[in-house]
Amino acid sequence: MGELPPLSFGEAIERIQATARALSPLSITRVSLDKALGRTTAETILSAETIPPFDNSSVDGFAIANAETATASASHPLEFPVVGTVVAGDLPPETAAPGAWEIMTGAPFPRGLSSSAKIEEVRVERDARGKIQRIWLKAPLTAGENFRAQGEDFSPGQTVIASGTELCPEQILALAALGTPNIAVYRRVKVAILSTGRELCPPEGLLLPGQIRDATGPYLNSELPRLGVEARSYGNVGDDPKQFLAVMDRILRDAPDVILTTGGVSMGTHDYVTSSVRDLGGQIIFHKVAIRPGKPILFAKFPQGPALFGLPGNPVSTVIGVRFFLEPFLRTLLGRKLEAAAWVPLAASVKKPRGLRCFFKAKVTLGNQGPRVHLVPGQLSFMISPLLASNAWAILPEEVSEVAEGSPISCYPLHAPPSPWGEEEPMA
Ligand code: AMP
Ligand code: MG
Repeated sequence: MGELPPLSFGEAIERIQATARALSPLSITRVSLDKALGRTTAETILSAETIPPFDNSSVDGFAIANAETATASASHPLEFPVVGTVVAGDLPPETAAPGAWEIMTGAPFPRGLSSSAKIEEVRVERDARGKIQRIWLKAPLTAGENFRAQGEDFSPGQTVIASGTELCPEQILALAALGTPNIAVYRRVKVAILSTGRELCPPEGLLLPGQIRDATGPYLNSELPRLGVEARSYGNVGDDPKQFLAVMDRILRDAPDVILTTGGVSMGTHDYVTSSVRDLGGQIIFHKVAIRPGKPILFAKFPQGPALFGLPGNPVSTVIGVRFFLEPFLRTLLGRKLEAAAWVPLAASVKKPRGLRCFFKAKVTLGNQGPRVHLVPGQLSFMISPLLASNAWAILPEEVSEVAEGSPISCYPLHAPPSPWGEEEPMA
């Protein structure tokens, strides 16, 4: 039982990715734009439209034929009659008479004109009814100034979003601008959550002597939907292997893609999860990885389909299990790249156990000395409070027992940003 030596983190990620690849690609479904947030594209999206769809002004002001406007200045303003007004939503007017057109931001340029002067750069003369009659241009206006050209942002047929991209509000912005009605995305990954531990008291319960509150259940229920997966909680089975087997049976019948268990994977007498998974026909892919915290992590695969992550019960171990094991699995399953580290100089030297990759709660600061990563006091895996002072994970490599101040450290933000902070480089 669990006799295998701890795996290196790199090897664990390779096995996680190999398992995910064998389960992918997931089936594809089409969703409308209002349902697309957080989904992953299953096709390359090409632009079907042109943005801007027509040449238009980027300022409120006056469109002027610029044959002679370059010489205008405050001391020698140039005078133009105002021949018309064009507002956003109008068709581009014909420019029959010479002169300036009052133009609003987003309005099409009158035919033949290609520059507009900001309202601040002209003096206007109005008639008795307040209508602008003529203007004096007080600053030089050169060809193409404040001109937004048709197709400058997107041209038809260009790649807008690659396949395997998480759809964030910025992608929705682009797709909406391009009039994309629906998008091919991978189906949602289904994750079952099961906690173990007879000491756990639900958040709303009365805490009895010897009990602690279930912190990671509510954490997973909030973090997993944020990762775009469909999470379902199967409660807590205490430390009763029979109950564990019964609920696992139910879970396997419900056929999720991933089962996440918490607790019960260490070496204590109640740590029956690994043997029970084996009894249920699960293949143990690894149990124990040379990391701190979270070393006893279990990864298994059931022949029926689901992969299982047995996360150690300490809250920070569970968080690391999600951030650095489940997330790479989900990314690979969804055809996405692994996240890349950002390398940040360490603010103060630190000692660490040789042979273990350490995931330290950390705070990256971007002061006037440049970025620095500070390890937050309280690195033990039961300590939740330091996480509240953290914005990143600092990852210290296996082969050293001390890291000197100023050394560049591999860092990941507390929550994965949609586009990587770091250079292209695998997490392992
Ligand atoms: P285990 O992995 O079951 O040995 O648990 C390790 C530690 O994590 C113990 O101190 C447990 O009480 C604690 N623990 C287990 N599950 C949870 C949970 N859901 N929320 C908070 N702490 C937990
Ligand atoms: Mg336990």
